[in-house]
Amino acid sequence: MTNYKNTLEFAKELDQLDPLADFRNQFHIPKNQDGTEQIYLCGNSLGLQPKKTKEYLQEELNDWANLGVEGHTEAKHPWMPYHEFLTEKMAKIVGAKPTEVVMMNTLSVNLHLMMVSFYRPTTKKYKIVIESDAFPSDKYAVESQLKLHDIDPKDGLVLWKPREGEELCRYEDLEKIMQEQGDEVALLMIGTTNYYTGQSFPIKKITQLGHQYNCKVGFDLAHGAGNIQPQLHESGADFAVWCSYKYLNSGPGSVGGCFVHEKHANDANLKRFAGWWGHNKSTRFNMRHEFDPIPGAEGWQLSNPPILSMAAIRASLDIFDKAGFDNIREKAIKLTGFLEYLLLEIKDERIEMITPTNPQERGSQISIKLKGATKQLFDDLMKAGVISDWREPNVIRLAPISLYNSYQDVYKMVQILKKLLK
Ligand SMILES: *Cc1c(COP(=O)(O)O)cnc(C)c1O
Repeated sequence: MTNYKNTLEFAKELDQLDPLADFRNQFHIPKNQDGTEQIYLCGNSLGLQPKKTKEYLQEELNDWANLGVEGHTEAKHPWMPYHEFLTEKMAKIVGAKPTEVVMMNTLSVNLHLMMVSFYRPTTKKYKIVIESDAFPSDKYAVESQLKLHDIDPKDGLVLWKPREGEELCRYEDLEKIMQEQGDEVALLMIGTTNYYTGQSFPIKKITQLGHQYNCKVGFDLAHGAGNIQPQLHESGADFAVWCSYKYLNSGPGSVGGCFVHEKHANDANLKRFAGWWGHNKSTRFNMRHEFDPIPGAEGWQLSNPPILSMAAIRASLDIFDKAGFDNIREKAIKLTGFLEYLLLEIKDERIEMITPTNPQERGSQISIKLKGATKQLFDDLMKAGVISDWREPNVIRLAPISLYNSYQDVYKMVQILKKLLK
């Protein structure tokens, strides 16, 4: 779809032809003070609330009120196996087998749990490679894991950086790092899609590269899950972690996800931090047994999970399932392409798009870097009802979301931006 037109009529036409257009009605769209709907382009930071979420939560509140502890087994969706209700739909979205996926904890916690198992440094092989503009939490997590093993991050942390004067990381440069230091690298931990530039990295290729050097390979899919199609199983990646409150619309601070590749499912020798929820379900309540991990990702669970948060995830995953993730991704490519096209049409040198132009190397996000314009522009956008987000020093991130943004949203947003630039 390259022959876009820069008119409101064209945007309306695209909305009419959009098979997912009705899904917008299933979400609460925040309103401006004058009662009009906001142009919400911030679903990469906090996804909007599905209208059904309340019902899903209410069901659990009712069952708790009426059943008390019996709800663990007698609730309409019994709490004991509740996380299992999420697994299949979540697995589909990230391209995994159900046994490879579990919803638990939150992202940074899961990242630590995964590194406990998959970052096992030796004196010769101890380095961790991350992309240089990794989300701060990821960097803190990785550095603290290095320190836990008495490794100085100055020596142990290797950054895959964009070249001088560039914004995006080049795969060749990662290859070069591995050629030079691969024998010393124990783990590749890459965030994809990058939260700042919106760049998606080739997951399978990076995994193969890492494995070629006998490294473990994990991905942070905070901006990938529900956005791109990571095909985790097929990629061969050892692990992945993500959150559910961004593209997955499960509510602020909601429970995260974790992927452990099938090849590790039955390896009881893998070191891990354990808790009772990861123990064999048939003997969990005997309370005496030695730890007997559930095969697959579930074996990494620690605690019995927060049902209210999981109810919100269930509401959201039901919508994803109805819409079909292939359709969501197809629209995302078109919608993001339309945004890119319209931004280029502004022809203003003060804004530069830093997100890759190839749809395969990005998800539903365009990051624009401001040159000679200031944060005031972002504030003015907010005042005009465009909700985006600002990243220091000079980037505005715009995320048009297939399930609830329209082509008209995108068109109107660019008109407002154009006016503000004048
Ligand atoms: C959003 C995000 C996080 C947030 O981590 P939480 O543990 O969910 O608070 C971490 N890493 C990346 C890359 C993110 O985008």
